[in-house]
Amino acid sequence: MRATARFEVRGVVQGVGFRPHVHRVARALGLDGWVGNDSGQVFVEVAGAPADVESFAAALVDAPPPLARIDEIRRSAGSAGAARGFRIVASRVVAGGRTSVPPDSAICGECLAELRDPADRRFRHPFISCTDCGPRYTIVRSLPYDRAGTTMAGFAMCARCRDEYHDPDDRRHHAQPIACHDCGPTLAFDTGAGADSVVGGAALEAARAALVAGSVVAVKALGGFQLACDATDDAPIASLRARKHRPDKPFAVMVTDVDAAVDLAHVTDAEADLLASPIRPVVLVRARRGGPLSALAAPANPLVGLLLPSTPLHHLLADDLPPLVLTSANPSGEPLVHRDDDLDRLRSLCDAVLTHDRPIHAPCDDSVVRVVGGTVLPIRRARGFVPTPVDVGGRREVLAVGGELKNTCCLTADGHAWVGPHVGDMGDLRTTRAFEDVVTHLAALHGVDPDLAVADAHPGYHTRTWAHEVFDDVMEVQHHHAHVAAVLAEHGEPPDRPVIGVAFDGTGYGLDGTVWGGELLVADARSAVRVHHLAPVPLPGGDAAIEHPARVALAHLHAAGLDWDPALPPVGAVDPAVRTALARQLASGTGCVPTTSMGRLFDAVASLLGLRHSVSFEAQAAIDLEITAATPGAVDAGHRFAIRDGVADPAPLLRGIVEDVVAGRDIADLALGFHVAVVDLVVTWCERTRAERVLDTVALTGGVFQNAHLVEGCSRALVERGFRVLTHRAVPPNDGGLSLGQAWIAVHRP
Ligand code: ZN
Ligand code: ZN
Ligand code: FE
Repeated sequence: MRATARFEVRGVVQGVGFRPHVHRVARALGLDGWVGNDSGQVFVEVAGAPADVESFAAALVDAPPPLARIDEIRRSAGSAGAARGFRIVASRVVAGGRTSVPPDSAICGECLAELRDPADRRFRHPFISCTDCGPRYTIVRSLPYDRAGTTMAGFAMCARCRDEYHDPDDRRHHAQPIACHDCGPTLAFDTGAGADSVVGGAALEAARAALVAGSVVAVKALGGFQLACDATDDAPIASLRARKHRPDKPFAVMVTDVDAAVDLAHVTDAEADLLASPIRPVVLVRARRGGPLSALAAPANPLVGLLLPSTPLHHLLADDLPPLVLTSANPSGEPLVHRDDDLDRLRSLCDAVLTHDRPIHAPCDDSVVRVVGGTVLPIRRARGFVPTPVDVGGRREVLAVGGELKNTCCLTADGHAWVGPHVGDMGDLRTTRAFEDVVTHLAALHGVDPDLAVADAHPGYHTRTWAHEVFDDVMEVQHHHAHVAAVLAEHGEPPDRPVIGVAFDGTGYGLDGTVWGGELLVADARSAVRVHHLAPVPLPGGDAAIEHPARVALAHLHAAGLDWDPALPPVGAVDPAVRTALARQLASGTGCVPTTSMGRLFDAVASLLGLRHSVSFEAQAAIDLEITAATPGAVDAGHRFAIRDGVADPAPLLRGIVEDVVAGRDIADLALGFHVAVVDLVVTWCERTRAERVLDTVALTGGVFQNAHLVEGCSRALVERGFRVLTHRAVPPNDGGLSLGQAWIAVHRP
């Protein structure tokens, strides 16, 4: 009695060693048949004893290869009855087929062991990888995922690599980036225009020597160039900061392993797991005081972003060296440099370049995450995450173009949503090109050809203009509706069941043409109703005030009817002439844009407490406030919002803070008290909304919810009161998550 079966497996099943895995399992069970890829799926046909066929079916579900993600297995009768032996058949391209390319994956344990084994033929080979690890998304040019469709196409395999590649029992069977010292890419190091390159192992040693000597070295990583320097030495970091025009924003620091991370920071188990995960993101952790890091790596910030080496090259570079600053190699405001042709853009930022001849097809920045309440909170979603899809249901093909800052885009088809990597802030021509490249790449990878674009409603957003130029059919979605929708999409919520969405951020275009950012919406995929919001405060200069929390503080004092007492920190921090102009503007209303932004309120309070009056990067003042609130021994100062019907007025809260500041109260109490007041506001709003509308699910979103204190405080308080709380775990709460929300809304539009 001989049984047959055919399996069609969809999901992340190409480029993860699925076919060799199937081959091993089938042969171990003594089954005949074949396995192959087409551009939509992996197909398997088996024939053999009925019990063995069933064992095979179970193994497919229970024990897939480590990097695979199975979305669907379809089983049918099969036609392999006459087959003898088990083989891997050639890839086929099928029209309309669709699969997911895996994300780039950090070097696996076995490859790392070989990298360090002098007896291994790939000892110290900077491009060692296998079917369980290595580059994927960044090197794939086209599907099906075969060597010819990757940037490894130009490297002819040597005889030994070819044998491994074709041996179904080898860990590198059909590992497309397979390479060795004899046939793989080559490193090159040089110190500038006209200088001769050093190549191979000597290039690596030259780069290490340059780092030790205090140079800034650009390094070609998986998804683009990075800038590296000694993180324990002030001089190279000061030079890097000056050259990158980045005075304060913390740099990520690469350490060799988790033990080295523990030397620098307080690392929880969840944080250690993330650091060492195949995603290998930058993880924001609490720095140890008095450690070896230069104070310039993350100035005045108790959080430090740590990451472990993600590639064999990074391991070889970092071994036995002090911790290294590692940051994206892009001139301020421009996208990541990822082509060797573009190295001219980097020369002024570094002293030397360590590159190689394996092209990067799709740029992908390092990802940044935080652990909040024991789970991952993405801050920047890129390498290691992209292009893992989010299942959103629906079948419609749409392109969501995201927002203006921290831009990402999102494509959908067949119920999957592929969110592209963090591109950055729009407005620069190069950024627009980078954005278009991501759209083209994602569309080609997944065979998607959308006829509907989704954009933010803000008339000034470049992404919205782009959408209208390129698409006939454009749907516009209100900013905070998209934020709330992103949480719902991540959690697979039904599109027609409204929830309470608390959206707190810096800036979003409101339905009334003013700037929103402190909203409670009742929303599902079809609509969003604004139920509660902060009292609008006229802000002179609108968004231009973002860089000057002190001016925001003066505007808030004015709106609250409070005097600009010279004893208050923001009053002294604003030049008297500017102060006079501001007063005139506020009195007349000229050039004042009303805003309900919670982000700006955080800025105002940070300035009132004397923490920071101008910022050089987004949320800098809010981070200061969060950190001050975490001061041990701080007690809630007890000031609260006046919460009336629909509108929350910060005036009494600000009055209390002003009085306490003048009286010399500890600012930690006031910072903590402000956080408690915001949690109290969220709880009050949610309870009122629940009472009126019988809703008990709350989504917390918007850039303000990158604040761990706030996420944990709101979650705890709401859960205690019987709410179901949804927070971000797949895309960022900041504008990097907008595209997913936009896409979800469009896919489910009736
Ligand atoms: Zn490996
Ligand atoms: Zn080789
Ligand atoms: Fe936003």
